[in-house]
Amino acid sequence: MTHFPQTPANSVKRVPKRAAYDHETIYAIVDSAYICHVGLVQDGRPFVIPTIHARDGDTLLLHGASTSRLMRHAAAGHELCLTVTHLDGLVLARSVFNHSMNYRSAVLFGRGHLIEEPAAKMAALERFTEKLIPGRWAEVRQPNETEMKATYIVAIPIETASAKVRVGPPNDEEEDLDWPVWAGVLPITPQFGAPISAPDATAEYPLPSLSRPIRPRGNWRVR
Ligand SMILES: Cc1cc2nc3c(=O)[nH]c(=O)nc-3n(C[C@H](O)[C@H](O)[C@H](O)COP(=O)(O)OP(=O)(O)OC[C@H]3O[C@@H](n4cnc5c(N)ncnc54)[C@H](O)[C@@H]3O)c2cc1C
Repeated sequence: MTHFPQTPANSVKRVPKRAAYDHETIYAIVDSAYICHVGLVQDGRPFVIPTIHARDGDTLLLHGASTSRLMRHAAAGHELCLTVTHLDGLVLARSVFNHSMNYRSAVLFGRGHLIEEPAAKMAALERFTEKLIPGRWAEVRQPNETEMKATYIVAIPIETASAKVRVGPPNDEEEDLDWPVWAGVLPITPQFGAPISAPDATAEYPLPSLSRPIRPRGNWRVR
C-alpha cells in the first residue's frame, strides 16, 4: 500500500488513531465527493472556496473560468490546501461531552499548474463530466474552441495528504451507561431526488442512469 509522507502539515495530532495516510483510503474519500473546498492565501488573507474536483492518479484537477480568481491563483503555483468531507451520521451520546459525528474527511496539499495542451485539457474535461454521470461525455455536445479558451484546467500533483475517519457508536463513560436517554447513531445518507426535466426540453429522452454508487465506503474499523 502506498502512503503519503507524513510532514508537520499533514500529521493528525488530535485522535491520531482515526488517521490514515494511504492512497487507497484518501482517494476513496476524494473520489466519492462531488466537491472540495480549496484553501488559499492571497495578499495575507485566507479564502476557502467550494468547487468541483476530479482526480487523475496522484493529481487533483480543478476547472473553472479563466477569469476566476481561484483558478488564476491555483494556476500560478501557490500553495493550496484542499478539503473533502462526508458526513455519515450524528453520534448521540448519554453525555453532552461525548456527542459527535461520524465522518470521512481528507485534507490534501499541493501546488497547481495550468494544463494547456488541448488533448490533455479535453481529457480532463471528460474526467469531470464522467465523474458527474458516467456515460454523459459521449452523449452531450463536446466543448468548442471558445468554451475551451474560456476554461482553465489546473492540475495539482498531491504533495501530501491525510484522511481522518470516525465510525461507530458513541464512546460513553461507563458511569453514564444507565443515563435514561436514547443513545446511538443517526445515519445520514445523501440521495438523488426524482429527476426534474429541463423546462425548455424539445423532446423526451431517457433519464440519465443514476445507478452509480455515490458513496463507496472503505472497510473502516469501528473505534
Ligand atoms: C457546489 C459548487 C461547485 C462549484 N464548482 C465550481 C467549479 O467547478 N469551478 C469554478 O470555477 N467554480 C465553481 N464553483 C464556484 C466557486 O465557489 C467560486 O464562486 C468560483 O470559483 C469563483 O471563485 P473566485 O474566488 O475566483 O471568485 P471571486 O468572485 O473572485 O470571489 C470573491 C469573493 O466572493 C465570495 N464567493 C466566491 N465564491 C463564493 C461561493 N461559492 N459562495 C459564497 N461566496 C463566494 C467570497 O467572499 C470570495 O472571496 C462552485 C461552487 C459550488 C458551491
